[in-house]
Amino acid sequence: MGDKYVYNFGGGKADGNATMKNLLGGKGANLAEMSGMGIPVPAGFTITTEVCTYYYDHDKQYPKELEKQVADGLHSMEKAMGAKFGDPANPLLLSVRSGARVSMPGMMDTVLNLGLNQETIKGIVERTGNERFAYDSYRRFIQMYSDVVMGAESEHFEKIIDDLKAKRGVKLDTELTVDDLKGLCDSFKALVKKDLGHDFPEDPKEQIWGGIGAVFKSWMTPRAIEYRRLHGIPGNWGTAVNVQAMVFGNMGDDCATGVAFTRDPGTGEHRFFGEYLINAQGEDVVAGIRTPQPINNAAKKSDEEKSLEEVMPKPYTELEGIYKKLEKHYRDMQDIEFTIQQGKLWMLQTRNGKRTGPAAVRIAVDMVNEKLIDKKEAVMRVEPTQLDQLLHPRIDPKVKREVLTKGLPASPGAAVGQVVFTADEAADWAKQGKKVMLLRQETSPDDIKGMAVAQGILTARGGMTSHAAVVARGMGTPCVAGCGDLIIDSARKQAKVGDVTLGEGDPVTIDGSTGEVMLGELPTIEPELTGDFGIFMGWTDELKRLKVRTNADTPHDAEVARNFGAEGIGLCRTEHMFFEGDRIDAVREMILSEDLEGRKEALAKILPMQKGDFKGIFKAMDGLPVTVRLLDPPLHEFLPHTDEEIKELAQKMDEPFEKLKAKAEELHEFNPMLGHRGCRLGVSFPEIYAMQAQAIMEAACELVKDEKVVVIPEIEIPLVGHFHELQQLRGVCDKVCQEVISRTGQKVDYTIGTMIELPRACITADEIAKHADFFSFGTNDLTQTTFGFSRDDAGKFLREYVQKKILPCDPFVSIDTNGVGQLMKIAVTRGRESNPDIEIGICGEHGGEPNSVVFCDEIGLDYVSCSPYRVPIARLAAAQATVKEQTKH
Ligand code: PEP
Ligand code: MG
Repeated sequence: MGDKYVYNFGGGKADGNATMKNLLGGKGANLAEMSGMGIPVPAGFTITTEVCTYYYDHDKQYPKELEKQVADGLHSMEKAMGAKFGDPANPLLLSVRSGARVSMPGMMDTVLNLGLNQETIKGIVERTGNERFAYDSYRRFIQMYSDVVMGAESEHFEKIIDDLKAKRGVKLDTELTVDDLKGLCDSFKALVKKDLGHDFPEDPKEQIWGGIGAVFKSWMTPRAIEYRRLHGIPGNWGTAVNVQAMVFGNMGDDCATGVAFTRDPGTGEHRFFGEYLINAQGEDVVAGIRTPQPINNAAKKSDEEKSLEEVMPKPYTELEGIYKKLEKHYRDMQDIEFTIQQGKLWMLQTRNGKRTGPAAVRIAVDMVNEKLIDKKEAVMRVEPTQLDQLLHPRIDPKVKREVLTKGLPASPGAAVGQVVFTADEAADWAKQGKKVMLLRQETSPDDIKGMAVAQGILTARGGMTSHAAVVARGMGTPCVAGCGDLIIDSARKQAKVGDVTLGEGDPVTIDGSTGEVMLGELPTIEPELTGDFGIFMGWTDELKRLKVRTNADTPHDAEVARNFGAEGIGLCRTEHMFFEGDRIDAVREMILSEDLEGRKEALAKILPMQKGDFKGIFKAMDGLPVTVRLLDPPLHEFLPHTDEEIKELAQKMDEPFEKLKAKAEELHEFNPMLGHRGCRLGVSFPEIYAMQAQAIMEAACELVKDEKVVVIPEIEIPLVGHFHELQQLRGVCDKVCQEVISRTGQKVDYTIGTMIELPRACITADEIAKHADFFSFGTNDLTQTTFGFSRDDAGKFLREYVQKKILPCDPFVSIDTNGVGQLMKIAVTRGRESNPDIEIGICGEHGGEPNSVVFCDEIGLDYVSCSPYRVPIARLAAAQATVKEQTKH
């Protein structure tokens, strides 16, 4: 006996099984598995992937044993199906399909109905009593085989059909008569002879070898090679060939075909759920030409509907038994395809079914309760990003979307609102009870009040870490950013996309999960945080190593995040507080002060307000750590820009216009993101950081003393690149903190640390760590400074970078592990070398992106911090990282 190249399946047996994907391909292994379980699968055999490799290694020759093994395979198939290949009286028809280890949809060839010829067609007519079906199959076979195997031009066949339909004055193929179909078979064969110079093969054996050869050849077509290159699939894997008996759901009214899910893929409900059609082929069910009927009585919506359970009770009962068996065997919800041929049920396919986020959670929890899977498996069954669907409203999936344009999916969820062009209008309209959609070129901290009341935010510029994206995610407000086709003319209160004009008040719907923008109001569905969600998230906490904190600047956001399971605040950006209400006036007064005294006076006005803010946040986070970052943005962000706005402010402050104008010009920078910001402000104006440290400590000490709140403050210095910066500013803060402690007589443990967001900080992390109690990676700035990509402008070209495969994805969305990630690794190693107790986290936007969370787990961070609505996503991603790590060992 030589090597085994052909593996049979069918008749309740199989030579192979599901573990043999490398040899039999995905499809072959799965068919073998089902058949081995005793499930009725049309019999067939799989020619192994090794034959494909052999074929290409041996100048397109097959191994010598193959011919006999194929003949033997055919024999067992004939036995199992009770029909004979090429027998005019009782012909067996075959399909030949490719099947690689991983699915390569649509890349390789398939031929159906092999075995039809002048003689066997008569047998089919006789056995089915359906001449129309027989000749329609025959003409389709000639067309497909000539195209796929013989290389004829498929348009020539289409032209013959179109000419005939025109001659008959009909539109649809189904309107052609049996004689028309017979005539088509003859015309097709004549065309083959004319185009290719030889006859269409009558011999079924020649047909089958033609089909097998075509599949192997299709492994090396340019499109298959390109597909493999893009998906990293090695060429030497080869494809298997599956030769299988054809079964027909369209031979008459005792035939049917359908698709079903073993549980509801929309809700996860434990009910068998599917659709079928009598006398139809597989594609008819999904094509939408006829209305499919529900599979069982429970799903019937009216008496007009006829379920399979009613119409064909016997095969239905059998199908029920099979679906239960399959689900138990695969231990997951299955998506199955079946055909009933003259009353006999055949299973064509089973695979793990796709499902919505809510369904994924429910199925995972139910299956643990049913003891089908354990908690670890359950946690691996839900994609972290799928949780989004449970946390935000989404567009009703039943509604058809007409997409006007697309931008970046900057903050998930669906929003519907009337277009406004300024933050002030947004605030006014919202006050009148209107729902608004804020359209901006890009947003700035000035827009916060409008953003806070808008249903959704749509910007023409900016990337995934632009102001609009970061703030919207923090608020849980849907946002589409960097929508390049959108031309906004705020002065005229107009926006254009191509020749569509959007005016103030026009209703628009955005989908922040896909980046799509639609005209009008689309219906949305509210999220449901069911009991299953809580149970499921509890399991993620039992499993994960990483802690998950949140980025929050208000008590409200802090509470939302805590309800979502946040274990502290990893980043509280204090600058947002500087814009609230009247305090912007005091901030401007400080900026305009000529000297230290003036600045201190203005800061004294800000101090109680900041203290109040911190108290609110510390209270909301009672018992959990809160990292408060000292002022980071360049000061010009707090001043108006246009002459008109400056004039208005000058009047309000009773200051000369020229003075304000001069200050704004003085603060102007060509590259503000690389300018006078972060700890550089602290170096120039230590009194600002001192005021903030005082507000933090006074808030903490008073809360502990008066209200018994447990406060764990962590003071954070941003944008440090040299340890001297941290050393000096730490000195400033420590001094103030000690003063507050001794003044209030209340000891509160506090820590001082730094953001790590510059390449130099990563490289010199050993020096910096000597002065830091904690590090928090600011990967937004670290990505910006490592690539030299402006985070506010890169949206314009990054999409092209991804399309052209220069980058695998937007590095502001998912950590660039080979570049930025390596700098992080260096910082972790060097930082812990000189300070083994240092706590290390991440608070850039990557902290809520599942792949980045896995990376953070791998390099040993202590926590990730992300916007409140991404906390559950990060918790799940962290749990999956631990489970993956455990299964590796
Ligand atoms: C960062 O740079 O990653 C960060 C968290 O800070 P910000 O986004 O406020 O610059
Ligand atoms: Mg930063």
